Amino acid sequence: MSPRNSEHVYDVIVVGGGAAGVGVSVTLSHAGVENFVVLERHTVASSFASWPAETRFITPSYTTNSIGMLDINSIAMGTSPAYSLEVEHPTGQDYAKYLRAVAHFFDVPVEEHTDVLQVAQADDGFCVETAGETLRAKHVIWAAGEFQYPRLGGFTGSELCRHTATVASYEELDGDDIIIVGGYESGIDAAYHLAYCDKRVRLFDINCPWESESSDPSIALSPFTLERMHERQFATQVELFPNTAIESVTCSGTTYEVTAQDGQRYQTSTPPLLAAGFEGSHKLVADLFEQREDGSLLLSEDDESTIVPGIFLCGPAVRHNNHVFCFIFKYRQRFAVVAKAIATSLGLPAEELEEYRKWGMYLDDLSCCGQECAC
Ligand SMILES: Cc1cc2nc3c(=O)[nH]c(=O)nc-3n(C[C@H](O)[C@H](O)[C@H](O)COP(=O)(O)OP(=O)(O)OC[C@H]3O[C@@H](n4cnc5c(N)ncnc54)[C@H](O)[C@@H]3O)c2cc1C
Repeated sequence: MSPRNSEHVYDVIVVGGGAAGVGVSVTLSHAGVENFVVLERHTVASSFASWPAETRFITPSYTTNSIGMLDINSIAMGTSPAYSLEVEHPTGQDYAKYLRAVAHFFDVPVEEHTDVLQVAQADDGFCVETAGETLRAKHVIWAAGEFQYPRLGGFTGSELCRHTATVASYEELDGDDIIIVGGYESGIDAAYHLAYCDKRVRLFDINCPWESESSDPSIALSPFTLERMHERQFATQVELFPNTAIESVTCSGTTYEVTAQDGQRYQTSTPPLLAAGFEGSHKLVADLFEQREDGSLLLSEDDESTIVPGIFLCGPAVRHNNHVFCFIFKYRQRFAVVAKAIATSLGLPAEELEEYRKWGMYLDDLSCCGQECAC
């Protein structure tokens, strides 16, 4: 780690020590950047470590590195969660072990328990304010993720619900009759595990994601999820309510009442589960970026702000045109693009990054892989 005094200016500060922060940091090192630090609110991989205990990766890990195809869940060349963990669909806790091992192996300079409160533009770069001090950097990579910023609103009384991101284990949930609002990956995953706890589950979704015909996993449910929906226990215990928007949730005594927009009412004695996705952390730096119409950040071709040069976005919130980089195998393709832009700005040759192209970890042609294409 670089020495630091009050005058020290980092070449790069990376905010967040999750899959995106650790992955882009390893890539920065390969690009020859040395004077950087990762600031992490909790500990490396803390979001993954907080997933519900039963939840597993939907994207399967496999030891494909040996034939030049990087493990789909790998964030650094030469590493493979399948090989290290001996698991095809890791749990969050499993994957946290892999991420910590990668950070350790590549000597990623992480400062844990360091919460970034604000990033502000300064004359010579950026001031990054933490709870304890203000640090300075020429470049900032925002990689603070989504998991710790769940989407809680959406309808009247949604605050009475419990977001799936706050569930430590489905086995420990009280009640025999569970209502879930949201039927994409997290909602179906919750329903599946609760079904195996012999709970009755009613699951509502405004659309019908399990019937999507898209081949893009950012839109359609994964094969892993669809396969689990076909299991007898799921079919027996879970009742699906597609195309049913929820209007409100009320609570009277120990009874929660969920009202749909079509006027139908459903009661349960347990707080309904909210599987409504994530707001994302990028709102914390929204003042340094232009916004797209969909609320995400507008990025240059190098994932840099279009109005404040030097700050980059990394991770699942990256969007380009219709391209949604929400999975690890998608957003890792941008690590080398960001690292190369920063290395170039620092006058470093970044020659080693050419290797990333061979491994499919360098996507700079944004004209392919659109949302509806099957490439
Ligand atoms: C239940 C679930 C299942 C998923 N399954 C898959 C899957 O099968 N395959 C797949 O590819 N993807 C999957 N994803 C998506 C993907 O894994 C996540 O989007 C991934 O966690 C993103 O990594 P990240 O590094 O951007 O965010 P995180 O892992 O959340 O890391 C961000 C880090 O930043 C830190 N942080 C946040 N704010 C601050 C701050 N202000 N200051 C300092 N530090 C901060 C946090 O403590 C955290 O450690 C899943 C996501 C969820 C929630």
